[in-house]
Amino acid sequence: MRQSQMIIPTLKETPADAEIKSHQLLVRAGYIRQTVSGVYSYLPLGNKVLKNIEKIVREEMDKAGSVEMLMPALQSSDLWKQTGRWYKLGPELMRLHDRHDREFALGATHEEVITSHLRDEIKSYKKLPLNVYQIQTKFRDEQRPRFGLLRGREFVMKDAYSFHTSYQSLDEAYDKMFQAYKNIFSRCGLNFRAVIADSGAMGGKDTHEFMVLSEIGEDTIAYSNQSDFAANIEMAPVRVTYEESKDGFKKLEFIDTPGYKTMNQVSKFIEQPLENGIKSLLFKVDDRFVLVLSRGDHEINDIKLKNALGTSEVELATEEQIKQLFKADAGSIGPVNVPEAIEVIADYAVSVMRNVYCGANQTDKHYINANIDRDFKITSYQDLRFIQEGDPSPDGLGTIKFAKGIEVGHVFKLGTFYAEKLGAQYLNEQGKQETMIMGCYGIGVSRTLAAIVEQYNDENGIKWPVAITPYHVHLITVNPKDKEQLELSEKIYDQLQMENISVLFDDRKERPGVKFADSDLIGLPIRITVGKKASEGIVECKLRENGGEQEDFEVTSIVEKIN
Ligand code: ATP
Ligand code: MG
Ligand code: MG
Ligand code: MG
Repeated sequence: MRQSQMIIPTLKETPADAEIKSHQLLVRAGYIRQTVSGVYSYLPLGNKVLKNIEKIVREEMDKAGSVEMLMPALQSSDLWKQTGRWYKLGPELMRLHDRHDREFALGATHEEVITSHLRDEIKSYKKLPLNVYQIQTKFRDEQRPRFGLLRGREFVMKDAYSFHTSYQSLDEAYDKMFQAYKNIFSRCGLNFRAVIADSGAMGGKDTHEFMVLSEIGEDTIAYSNQSDFAANIEMAPVRVTYEESKDGFKKLEFIDTPGYKTMNQVSKFIEQPLENGIKSLLFKVDDRFVLVLSRGDHEINDIKLKNALGTSEVELATEEQIKQLFKADAGSIGPVNVPEAIEVIADYAVSVMRNVYCGANQTDKHYINANIDRDFKITSYQDLRFIQEGDPSPDGLGTIKFAKGIEVGHVFKLGTFYAEKLGAQYLNEQGKQETMIMGCYGIGVSRTLAAIVEQYNDENGIKWPVAITPYHVHLITVNPKDKEQLELSEKIYDQLQMENISVLFDDRKERPGVKFADSDLIGLPIRITVGKKASEGIVECKLRENGGEQEDFEVTSIVEKIN
């Protein structure tokens, strides 16, 4: 491609609003432009890299037996109401009306739509398992869209959904997706880790996040320096039952579900903001009360809580129930000023939980994905504290280190929640109706693009890995007014194309300094410079990655060399 015909609006200055490298460089190198907060256009180079990532995703998903389809972004509110997420997702779900005043959402994700299709089209166990995916635009009205493509309000996601007749079959699909994700992120050249997510709260229901290691990541990962153990620290497996505690908290169970944010519609009455952004939320679960503490800006919902607690009945505690509860324990917490009481308890819980981690003193077994209650019995809460750097790893192998991570992928065993709500049933071998079991698997494609740039750059610009680069070769004519230089450049341009080596040909009438600076910024792996020695048939070649060591080559050997 001739650069003179491209739209690559490079910038000398760093845009004021761009705090992180990938945001700065993708804008400066002319890959993307913001149209409105959290919404971007992909200019030609940006589009090319996006498509290259999509290609890798497609190849690996296809290989893993998932089939591609495409669902609409525009979705009627009906399905969302049936699963309850219309109410639960709060302002993150983009909502709109049509001319008949009917309600719609722009898809933040597609569990509802895909489950309704399977419900309508799949009637027999013979058709299951199934695994489908799409690469599609998602909309989330993030509270803080920032960091360029990392947290957009409109972004590209690959989302896959699998449907099963047994948990064993779900496990198999999960493992396959897990492996596909490893392949995808490896092929993208990323330094990543698969980490346990939600394990504390999910009570053994598997879910993993794929984290790209990066200083600017919004998540913290606790990992072992000697084994595969890695967990999102937000999800450090913490669960404290106050069965034996003194202060009359007998009926309370504290569950750290840090991935949860207080729901919008939760009455202010039981929503008490705590220090460090920790919030508390009281649920009634069967006949127990559960105080959920949340950190971070993730969503809280009773689906996850249900899974975590392995029960089907979860509801927010009513004011009346809370009053009852606290009356029962009034002796220990003083007068029944409910909001105050909750704050006291939550404070207490937070102060305890700051020091909570399971298993630091449990070295007699090797626990993997250790889970309190399942793997540990807690005798007193002093035994527990959050995991810290330098702790022994829960699997007994090595010590714990912390790192920051960017969540680029997430795999999740959903179970039957969506299928139940939407009535997705099939006839089993005995002719009996059964509910489908589901898994879901997401990759932030546009976020992955930014994560790659975070890991591949230097002070002069981007340094694309070969698998992702928009073009392999940057061919630069130092002085296109020089006939010999131009002719030689044209010849090399033709040859490279004939060999199917993608090339960006800087034929612009710009100063050499501008061209070289742009070239570093754009970041193609190989640069061929046609300059003064053109008359001798000699060009310069350098690799972007090794910081600019230049070598002279005979033109006759250059294409061969690159090949
Ligand atoms: P986060 O914790 O960063 O908000 P999430 O857990 O809400 O992400 P998922 O619902 O798991 O995201 O969606 C699957 C994938 O989509 C994520 O792993 C991430 O890579 C990507 N993703 C989510 N939100 C955004 C966003 N606002 N902009 C770009 N990519 C996103
Ligand atoms: Mg989110
Ligand atoms: Mg997340
Ligand atoms: Mg996630």
